[in-house]
Amino acid sequence: MSITPQFALLGLDQQELTKLAVEKQQPSFRGKQLADAIYRQRVEKLADVTTLPQSLRESLTGEGGEIGWPTILKRFVSQDGTIRYLIGFADGESVETVWMPEGDGGEAGDGTDAYEDRAERHSHEWHRATICVSSQVGCAVNCQFCLTAKLGVQRNLTAGEIAGQVLVVLRDQDVDIATERINLVFMGMGEPFLNYDNFMKAVRLLVSEVGIPESRMTVSTAGIVPRIEDFGREAIRPKLAISLNGSNDEVRESVMPLNRKWDLERLLGAARAFPLRNRERLTFEYVLLDGVNDAPENAREVVRLLNGIRAKVNLIALNPGPDIPYETPRPERVNKFQQILLDADIPVFIRRPRGRDIYAACGQLKRTEELVSLS
Ligand code: SAH
Repeated sequence: MSITPQFALLGLDQQELTKLAVEKQQPSFRGKQLADAIYRQRVEKLADVTTLPQSLRESLTGEGGEIGWPTILKRFVSQDGTIRYLIGFADGESVETVWMPEGDGGEAGDGTDAYEDRAERHSHEWHRATICVSSQVGCAVNCQFCLTAKLGVQRNLTAGEIAGQVLVVLRDQDVDIATERINLVFMGMGEPFLNYDNFMKAVRLLVSEVGIPESRMTVSTAGIVPRIEDFGREAIRPKLAISLNGSNDEVRESVMPLNRKWDLERLLGAARAFPLRNRERLTFEYVLLDGVNDAPENAREVVRLLNGIRAKVNLIALNPGPDIPYETPRPERVNKFQQILLDADIPVFIRRPRGRDIYAACGQLKRTEELVSLS
């Protein structure tokens, strides 16, 4: 076990790293060297940052400083190639981060083999991949269909812990950011807009220091209206997705109690006012719950709600879980719902569940260690 660092460098941007170096009577370019070592070369230990003079490394570690990488505690590998990582932090807390390769060789057969064979890993069978990132340990929002809600919220993640999840997975997968296409979705455990400042700082680190374009990032919110407004004013920001999940206040309130605080009128008001960029669309996610929000009438209500918004809709058939009091609708019902939106010229996609067999799919992240088979 590594010794818990008293302060972590991972999470500081170049300006803050420069300040640290200058305080130690070092030239300011040491800040850039530190940032490159941490965020580009993914060096694990301060002692291994050989671009820095040994005296600086020793002085920082002497004060309890370390880079402060999160630890991969466990990997769960799905038949479809998805990997759910259990990632631990210095205080013993943990979250989950999900790696979803596209076109992974493991999709057709056994994902485990594809992963364990290092030669195959290095050949990079995938052409692009998506990492799903957590923003809090647990969640306070209490959506009735989501397993993360069962944990309650333990704490916010720091910016370094949010960006650190991405770095740890990039390193584990040997990703070359310059040549490989990585998308980030901030849709893991937690509500990013209830940890807004740390989330935004992580975004800036990932854009400026790690080198992932913001256009390849999407954040999803349950609908924290004041933060949607703040988010619209950010110079650097991911794309925005809003979890709709109900087509009128009554049904949305029954599945997302937060609708009592910010109802559909306020939510859609913020959506309408949101300053979209050229060709950008707002994404609305809609979890289909059998017999609850998936009737044709609900679809028609969604069409009316989204009228005049440059939107696209992602339909997600419920991913089931223990103590979730809903059922997954049959495919015909999902298709019917989709057709009504299509007929109204709304771009609408049915999200393919990834990693359901290992509890890695949407709404299934609750640090499950024992794997039961979900048929
Ligand atoms: N807190 C944020 C991001 C995490 S949830 C939010 O609420 O948007 C990411 C997406 O998964 C949301 O759209 C949510 O509605 C959906 N989701 C949650 N539980 C689900 C489940 N059991 N099955 C399918 N989708 C689910």
